[in-house]
Amino acid sequence: MAEKKTTEVVLPVLEGEEPWTAEEVKEQREELVEELARLEKRIEESEAELAALLSGGNDGAGRDPADVGSSNFERDQEMSLAHNVREMADQLRLALTLFDNGEYGYCEVCGNPIGKGRLQVFPRATLCVTCKQREERR
Ligand SMILES: [Zn+2]
Repeated sequence: MAEKKTTEVVLPVLEGEEPWTAEEVKEQREELVEELARLEKRIEESEAELAALLSGGNDGAGRDPADVGSSNFERDQEMSLAHNVREMADQLRLALTLFDNGEYGYCEVCGNPIGKGRLQVFPRATLCVTCKQREERR
């Protein structure tokens, strides 16, 4: 991805919040990029792990059924983890796209600012607290 100038990006804040400094904006984007890199690494690792689990070990015959059960459990765990990590990576990619389009920091649903405090804790947030809570209640 080409290096973008982030100094011109203006991120919105909620009432009562301090405006973002150029430095903070830069850090925020770096945070997104780094987090995405971390997740992509985890996706790779978990794919390797899954491949190993799916190949079912080396001793096909004479396996204890309890072992099979626990490895199925392990595989399901691994799959749901992989799924979650993938979703987080997708969210981060979306956040980065929004960032470069100058739309980062606004709620996807209501269009209000998400808030600086929230974004610094959850850089990949694309919903404001209110819309997020509404979504979780669904
Ligand atoms: Zn909202």
